[in-house]
Amino acid sequence: MSRLDSFIRRMTAQRDVLNHIGDMVKELEGPVLELGLGNGRTFDHLRTHFPERRIIAFDRALACHKSSTPDKEDLVIGEIRDTAQQFTGINAALVHVDIGTGYEERDAVTLTWLPQLAAALLAPGGIVASGLELNHSQLENLPLPHHVKKGRYFLYRRI
Ligand code: SAM
Repeated sequence: MSRLDSFIRRMTAQRDVLNHIGDMVKELEGPVLELGLGNGRTFDHLRTHFPERRIIAFDRALACHKSSTPDKEDLVIGEIRDTAQQFTGINAALVHVDIGTGYEERDAVTLTWLPQLAAALLAPGGIVASGLELNHSQLENLPLPHHVKKGRYFLYRRI
């Protein structure tokens, strides 16, 4: 499979997972957190699906498309490991994690702090959709949409 094929499959899985959890998230109170604003594509998808919800976006730098720029009060610039720490206990309904790099060694470093942080940001019963596998005792696996291949995206509910 070429990198283009692989990218398309990952993006398709990402969109399908975000669509799949729409009703679950709507039943929960609390903000949505977007870890990895990037170009702002998934931020835009989330705000389309959750128009009434506060969505706080995190990235180390602002590089999104102008049309997908969060309001100033909902944009947090800096290293997520540090900046998101200040939001622990915010009881998020959804944390969407899109900070994988495709480099195993770099992602392994991220995974030394990310699962704990994601769990601490979520409300009990809150959902995390992630491009990286998050192993944490407070995060239980949720089934993926049937057409999304295992390992292509990850879905959990906080216990
Ligand atoms: N969700 C975005 C979209 O749909 O356009 C794509 C996100 S891109 C794959 C990953 C983003 O996460 C990059 O913009 C990168 O700067 C950011 N990022 C990765 N690790 C980070 C970290 N530890 N702290 C802050 N930002 C990080």
